[in-house]
Amino acid sequence: MCNRCDERAIDRRSLLALAGFGAAAASLGLDVRSVVAAEGKKSALTPDQALAALKEGNARYVSSPQACVMDLAKRRADVATSQAPWAIIVGCSDSRAAPELLFGGVGPGELFVARNAGNMVDTATMGTVEYGAEHLGSPLIVVLGHERCGAVVAACDVATKNTKLPGSIGPMVKPIVPAAMAMKGKPGDFVDNTVRESAKRTAARLAASPILSHLVKGEKLKIVAARYDLDDGKVEYLA
Ligand SMILES: [Zn+2]
Repeated sequence: MCNRCDERAIDRRSLLALAGFGAAAASLGLDVRSVVAAEGKKSALTPDQALAALKEGNARYVSSPQACVMDLAKRRADVATSQAPWAIIVGCSDSRAAPELLFGGVGPGELFVARNAGNMVDTATMGTVEYGAEHLGSPLIVVLGHERCGAVVAACDVATKNTKLPGSIGPMVKPIVPAAMAMKGKPGDFVDNTVRESAKRTAARLAASPILSHLVKGEKLKIVAARYDLDDGKVEYLA
């Protein structure tokens, strides 16, 4: 058990807080059950409340980065028959960028996650995200790029050196190359500029989906791009 768990009486609410959403739900004045939304309901969070919950979770991860004991059996049971994830994350497969951890220890049933190297949106990922937003009712999509992304480094090499990549890796990073071309010669770090530009372009691509744009227009959904810092653990939201 970690220090935080030792410091407080572990009633159900504090365990849920450690699982990621309880503290956010409490601070937002929301009923815990409506947030977990088992029993077939959709998340009660608005897009802005979901974004605030992710920011709060990441701040917790940065300030108190320790793996907490979660009541995983209870959490599993709560959502075994239905799910109502309150945020969708399109993230990189990078082993250092697990959304459930970097957003403060988020438990089963909370995040709907699609990951691939370079956090791109192909047909499978687009369908996954549309399903999460339209069918499961998640109010927020975060495209989460990260510092020193290997897929972005590869795309930058293609853009500057015409590097040939083996197998399916070349076609996989190809959608990142236009972002790298756009960032060539710009001030600052080429790879990091491309990480940011690619995440923003992916968010724009998602926003062009008729299903998702309809939800955005109805203020039921927000789509944002972000960058995760491998060094300090902070998630920065990109304008
Ligand atoms: Zn990556």
